[in-house]
Amino acid sequence: MTTSRVSELTPSPGAVDRDSHEYQAHARGSHSRQAMLIEPGRLELREFSPPHPGPGALMLEIKCALSCGTDLKTYRRGHPVWKLPTPFGHEFSGVVVEVGSGVNQFKVGDAIMAAPTAPCGACFYCDRGQENLCAQAMDQMVMGAYADYLLLPPHIVARNAFKKPPSLPFEEAALLEPLACVVHAQEMARPEKNETVLIVGAGPFGLLHMMALKAAGVHTVVIAGRGESRLKWADELGADQVIDAAKSEAQSAVGMLNGGYGPDLVIECTGQLAGWGDAFARVRRGGRVVFFGGCPANTALSVDTRRMHYDNLTLLAPFHFRPRDVQRAFELLCGGSLNAGRLINARRSLSELGEVFAMLERGAMLKCAVIP
Ligand SMILES: [Zn+2]
Ligand SMILES: [Zn+2]
Repeated sequence: MTTSRVSELTPSPGAVDRDSHEYQAHARGSHSRQAMLIEPGRLELREFSPPHPGPGALMLEIKCALSCGTDLKTYRRGHPVWKLPTPFGHEFSGVVVEVGSGVNQFKVGDAIMAAPTAPCGACFYCDRGQENLCAQAMDQMVMGAYADYLLLPPHIVARNAFKKPPSLPFEEAALLEPLACVVHAQEMARPEKNETVLIVGAGPFGLLHMMALKAAGVHTVVIAGRGESRLKWADELGADQVIDAAKSEAQSAVGMLNGGYGPDLVIECTGQLAGWGDAFARVRRGGRVVFFGGCPANTALSVDTRRMHYDNLTLLAPFHFRPRDVQRAFELLCGGSLNAGRLINARRSLSELGEVFAMLERGAMLKCAVIP
């Protein structure tokens, strides 16, 4: 990759012209842009020359990239796997502008939605159907969706890329990856329609869990979270009950669920140790806890073994997703009953990416569509 002209995106967005050229013009080295995370808190928009896709690969013109909590965490403190500087952004949809040799299922002009990872299909974990743990998935994750163009490598084209139906907006199609994570977690948790589910955390993932549970017909979905606007969004997007976790009566409100038994299933979506502790403490006897949000490194949860055993708890900690979860997420998005696009409550251009992260820091948006 070659980079030349550089725009600082932090603290204030740089002034970058938004001229659009045909892909061939970009391929010859004119002004394609790609956001790089240089170090925590420092984003730059750089010029780059999109390469021609090799065998099995596709070049996409990005139509939409979505902000994600993982991006925000990485922006704040770096990431254990993604070494900085790195191209940035991993939730996307786009249009094929060039096709590598041997690709038969996609052609130039196709609208595409894809996950940023795919497993190898041949390792120990893949052999056991736990493709979410395949080393290739994380090691060869596609980054760089905050850009004009993105190269989709062969392993993703082969297993986790789909043609976007015309009726599905590009924004909503870009929710494929977060929804695949939610599908995987809910398949482990197996919610029943007559159950009461408590979601801890009212961020984008908490709300996506809530929407998926309601679309699946789960009777009562309660969200406990913090922040006035987030609680308002949870209510607007269809939570049956919203509990302000900052208030002292929150604990008793949770205890009253299910006629005083407590929630059947708790899905922890804060990625904070306090949230994990709450989730464990609040679930009913015989219930399940899903630890969905990953905590910072070197944190340890202390578990009351007596409660764990005599209350017959089931603790689940799903990570990432498998191809069949991506397939299911694709079907859910195309099915139209989820309306997950309602999660996207802000839109900005690529040159405003610095402002997007400043706003995410303040909790001023749920998910932002970044449109080149
Ligand atoms: Zn994501
Ligand atoms: Zn594998």
